[in-house]
Amino acid sequence: GPVIDLVDARKTYTTGAITFEALRGVTLRIDRGEYVAIMGPSGSGKSTLMNILGCLDVLTSGSYALAGHDVADLDEEDLADIRNREVGFVFQQFHLLPSLSAKGNVMLPLTYRQNPGQSARAARRAREEAAVRALDRVGLADKAPNRPGQMSGGQQQRVAVARALVGEPALILADEPTGNLDSSSTDDVLALFDELHASGRTVVLITHEDEVASRAARVVRVRDGLIAEDTGARSFPTAV
Ligand code: ADP
Ligand code: ADP
Repeated sequence: GPVIDLVDARKTYTTGAITFEALRGVTLRIDRGEYVAIMGPSGSGKSTLMNILGCLDVLTSGSYALAGHDVADLDEEDLADIRNREVGFVFQQFHLLPSLSAKGNVMLPLTYRQNPGQSARAARRAREEAAVRALDRVGLADKAPNRPGQMSGGQQQRVAVARALVGEPALILADEPTGNLDSSSTDDVLALFDELHASGRTVVLITHEDEVASRAARVVRVRDGLIAEDTGARSFPTAV
């Protein structure tokens, strides 16, 4: 089935007596392996949609299934569990922990992973090895012991990409991932997303920039809480 199956999604914010419908009936299906850019003007509902897709928030009405898990009615704890397993986030501001090394940051999504019968020590070692492999994948294996403060913005964002992919989530969700980067680091990070897509990962990227969106195979435009355009709305046969 699809990685993202969102049907007639509505999200209402209530502040005192005022309610505002930020999503007004959004239906979006994204298959495994797709690379999708979500665009739209400020206030159109992109952040709200990202929060829903990433299981950071829940719908007011409608349904959402992420990688086959129906998440619409989950409580906060179960939602967090699905989020930790199925979503790898990349943010504009990197959101790395400054006190941890690159390797320590990349290990974070694996914190609670331990195979049955595995010792705590063996589990930690497996997490470390996975983190180093992920750093190698973004070209930063040699920076594993470095703290974020010792790295350039582009390097920090590549560490964040390693953290997003280390747990093999169903979805990699990036919110303006190049918004704080110079053009050379932007190229590096976008090349990484191209590679992730080429290796079969499902990538959803939220961006204001046409140049960034043009890397994706499919562009979804949000306006006033609705999908105004979707270049891939039909489902294409999936290449195997
Ligand atoms: P975008 O990311 O496209 O700028 P948002 O999803 O942040 O759009 O916001 C969509 C609309 O919902 C905006 O009008 C915004 O002011 C409103 N909104 C977003 N979050 C809240 C909230 N927590 N409470 C009230 N209104 C909100
Ligand atoms: P972005 O830069 O992605 O457009 P915003 O600045 O619109 O984000 O929103 C930042 C945060 O503030 C989001 O978590 C959003 O949900 C919240 N927010 C946005 N608008 C409002 C609002 N009118 N009232 C309360 N919270 C809001």
